[in-house]
Amino acid sequence: MGVTHEVTNQVPPLAGHDPIAGDTALAEACVRHADVATLDSLKALGALAGSEQAQEWGRLANENPPRLRTHDRYGHRVDEVEFHPAWHDLMRTAFEHGLAGAPWHQDPAHPEPHAHVRRAVGYLGWTQVEMGHGCPVTMTYAAVPALRAAPELAARYEPGLTASAYEFGLAEPTGKRGLVAGMGMTEKQGGSDVRANTTRAVPNSDGTYALTGHKWFTSAPMSDLFLVLAQLSEGVSCFLVPRVLPDGTRNVFRLQRLKDKLGDRANASSEVEFEGTTAWLVGEPGRGVPTIIEMVNTTRLDCVLGSAATMRAALTQAIHHARHRRAFGALLADQPLMQNVLADLAVESEAATALAVRLAAAVDAGESDFLRLAGAAAKFWVCKRTPTAVAEALEVLGGNGYVEESGMPRLYRQAPLNSIWEGSGNVIALDVLRAMGRSSASLAAVRAEIDLARGADARLDAAVGRLAAELADPEQLPVRARRIAGLLALCLQASLLLRHAPAAVADTFCASRLDGDWGAVLGTLPGGTPVSAILERARVAPV
Ligand SMILES: Cc1cc2nc3c(=O)[nH]c(=O)nc-3n(C[C@H](O)[C@H](O)[C@H](O)COP(=O)(O)OP(=O)(O)OC[C@H]3O[C@@H](n4cnc5c(N)ncnc54)[C@H](O)[C@@H]3O)c2cc1C
Repeated sequence: MGVTHEVTNQVPPLAGHDPIAGDTALAEACVRHADVATLDSLKALGALAGSEQAQEWGRLANENPPRLRTHDRYGHRVDEVEFHPAWHDLMRTAFEHGLAGAPWHQDPAHPEPHAHVRRAVGYLGWTQVEMGHGCPVTMTYAAVPALRAAPELAARYEPGLTASAYEFGLAEPTGKRGLVAGMGMTEKQGGSDVRANTTRAVPNSDGTYALTGHKWFTSAPMSDLFLVLAQLSEGVSCFLVPRVLPDGTRNVFRLQRLKDKLGDRANASSEVEFEGTTAWLVGEPGRGVPTIIEMVNTTRLDCVLGSAATMRAALTQAIHHARHRRAFGALLADQPLMQNVLADLAVESEAATALAVRLAAAVDAGESDFLRLAGAAAKFWVCKRTPTAVAEALEVLGGNGYVEESGMPRLYRQAPLNSIWEGSGNVIALDVLRAMGRSSASLAAVRAEIDLARGADARLDAAVGRLAAELADPEQLPVRARRIAGLLALCLQASLLLRHAPAAVADTFCASRLDGDWGAVLGTLPGGTPVSAILERARVAPV
């Protein structure tokens, strides 16, 4: 083979870093809302998350997406999904490290006051490897509080849902070491407006129900249990649907096809038909939406965590690239305009991380009023910021960022998804208004949190004034819902950064995001921004 050229100025692969303890902003948030022992308990997960091995699992799981097998060779329906072994490695790691339902299990002899923060920090670090498997991990986590509306069902299935074990395959759930849960709400005629669901539930003589209808989106169809909405004469109601019935026979759970998705390719998302499918009522008849909202609100937390993770993963790659690639005689990382781009991304990422972990701390503390409103506003804002941030980080890698092997296209394709899930942009922004309208306690709790930084920075005080003016104006509130949701989230982020982040980060955030000293694209921070301090903090340390 003739040698035509030497390969130079290409960036070495990024591995051997710890995206949990090595990420200063995330590690500080963990210690702030939990303690050092909690952070230390995530050491092994952090080391794995930065390893070549885990990156390879992520690549393989995406390059070998799940395959639907509707029938066996003899024509019997099997309704199974086959996954590459790397998918199972990812799932097993997440479950065994307690990122699924584990925080809901409290051993009275050894209470864990920071179980949800621990999980959130682990989730934010670990899912940077691969986002798709985060979906079933999240739904398993989120199913537990909703299932508690039916204490008998919770007693039966909660031990499996909260176990730190992963066991793939069709089997009677109570005999499995660990369970995976999914959710079936969305139908063809409407996903946001679930009251328009047409799936019907008819009572059986033994106290169960028979469901007939369809679900247009049901992710992770290989899960053991699903929370599903269907109509009773009393209205939309919530049901538990196991894929295998207590007597060990298969329930009717017909997988029609898998979605051919923009991203999220390692994860299976299906269309499902129910025909006389056996189900158990969860909560009161006709109270399906308030029942499943427990699950929806919990998954919203993970939309914020997942988006913060996506931004952080993209930023980490961008910084790594810029620190090794030279152009025009100097490292990219030393060039002033590139520093501006990277610092802007770092500020965005840290603000998302701080808010995401603060939400998880609210779960530990039972701050439901705060969580209801702050969770919705954060879900709107952090998810909306993610595609923009990832696109900019991708460009830091130049043409290499547009090439699949870099991993950036995978992050880019995933980036819009959290904004669609669990209340797409408009719906979640309108939900922010609803949360404020329904309970003054929610707004009071969020204001109290913002006010903890009152007086610390005139730009935050002014933004709080603008927010108050927006809220005081009753005209055309729905038209302004995105403005209000975004401003609320920005005020929360600013309050957190002013109290907990170095001045370089907090001041830059306030100048750009609150005071308007900023452009329409990232990389437009004002001259004089302390970019070196911001970038030094944003580097992820090795294991
Ligand atoms: C990959 C993937 C996996 C999914 N997995 C699941 C799953 O496991 N289980 C499940 O139940 N669903 C799942 N979904 C469905 C998802 O939750 C829905 O797509 C989402 O809730 C939006 O519903 P829709 O698609 O019917 O859009 P629509 O409800 O038709 O909304 C379309 C647009 O209109 C906007 N809109 C709606 N109402 C208003 C209004 N009043 N004012 C202004 N704008 C409005 C929305 O914000 C949205 O942008 C999945 C979706 C995807 C893409």
